[in-house]
Amino acid sequence: MNERALPCLGAEHSGPQPRHLTVPVRVGNVLVGGGAPIVVQSMTNTDTADIAATVAQVAALARQGSELVRITVDRDEAAAAVPKIRERLDRVGIDVPLIGDFHYIGHKLLAEHPACAEALAKYRINPGNVGFKDKKDRQFGQIVELAIKHRKAVRIGANWGSLDQELLTALMDENALQPRPLDARAIMREAMVQSALLSAVRAEEIGLGKDQIILSAKVSGVQDLITVYRMLAQRSDYAIHLGLTEAGMGSKGIVASSAALGILLQEGIGDTIRFSLTPEPGGDRTLEVKAAQELLQTMGFRAFVPQVAACPGCGRTTSTVFQELARDIQDWIAGSMQDWKTRYPGVEALNVAVMGCIVNGPGESKHADIGISLPGTGEEPTAPVFVDGKKVKTLRGPAIAAEFKAMVADYVTQRYGRRADAAE
Ligand code: SF4
Repeated sequence: MNERALPCLGAEHSGPQPRHLTVPVRVGNVLVGGGAPIVVQSMTNTDTADIAATVAQVAALARQGSELVRITVDRDEAAAAVPKIRERLDRVGIDVPLIGDFHYIGHKLLAEHPACAEALAKYRINPGNVGFKDKKDRQFGQIVELAIKHRKAVRIGANWGSLDQELLTALMDENALQPRPLDARAIMREAMVQSALLSAVRAEEIGLGKDQIILSAKVSGVQDLITVYRMLAQRSDYAIHLGLTEAGMGSKGIVASSAALGILLQEGIGDTIRFSLTPEPGGDRTLEVKAAQELLQTMGFRAFVPQVAACPGCGRTTSTVFQELARDIQDWIAGSMQDWKTRYPGVEALNVAVMGCIVNGPGESKHADIGISLPGTGEEPTAPVFVDGKKVKTLRGPAIAAEFKAMVADYVTQRYGRRADAAE
């Protein structure tokens, strides 16, 4: 290779493909699609009839940054609770739009609980279980008519686990008659896409506006999911909700969702995302919001919290000083954000680096807004600090962490405080 050669073709372009243009949908006070910022959403796992528990979890998800929150509406008690949940949230200043998740009897619950129908900003229905046989079209139509009456958005969410069996059987039969039939999985993917699109067209025929329809087609396999959503985007301009269904627990769920959604987002597909993570027993439900935000932020689509770049550490960081400082800074920034967000507009785009030794420390720290390069094993016990790419100070001694935090706080005040002053 000629080391002096100019970058090869393609090196000049870095970034996602242009967004797949969709019709914008207003969900309460949040715009989904039409080029609006990609929206983070989540879902509760409380019994909706337990008003206090549901209010507490919706509030936690919203405070973490969930911009839409879905709740299960599975029976009369849950439907009756919805307006009370809305009221209590409003009382504590949480205006996050609520989405009702309906299966089997959504038409009945929405008709019999008009206050629930009114309190929700969007109804999520699954064309695979909205009703069966002769009831299917009727019950689907009833939900759509209620959405029209209450002027609400609808997500038509096909799911691999509850695929419209009549449609699947018809496509399978048709495929079997072809000279070169496709494999069964390809037909399932086609059925997923058709199920969502045919239902959307039917909803429009009934009178629902295109600007009230969001589509999703969730499967649990990463490769299938990518293919299904590409097909959906190629064939329509409905707003798209992305999510890998049954993503799983812990790192598996986060990695699988990030891989699938990351590729689609890079291709410009997706207007709102949800990470369907299974929490550990008693675990923190807000993890799904953090993971979704981190995906959008690491890919450069949105900024939610300042990012702390830390090296993984290695044999050069044999003391725990480095790990402790990295965690300390991260926790301190997270804890300061509530205050910083109101006082320092734009602070969520801040980049901080905490590096473990001289090998990559100074270089990485120079790329950050503010960064510190700690001494590795055997290095002189000093820690240079870089601000906007320039070395400004060398810290030493036991108070390195406190001094670095003070420098970060100063940086935030200097850089983002000015914007706040200018805006006043
Ligand atoms: S920067 Fe230093 S401590 Fe960190 S991973 Fe690289 S070599 Fe190891």
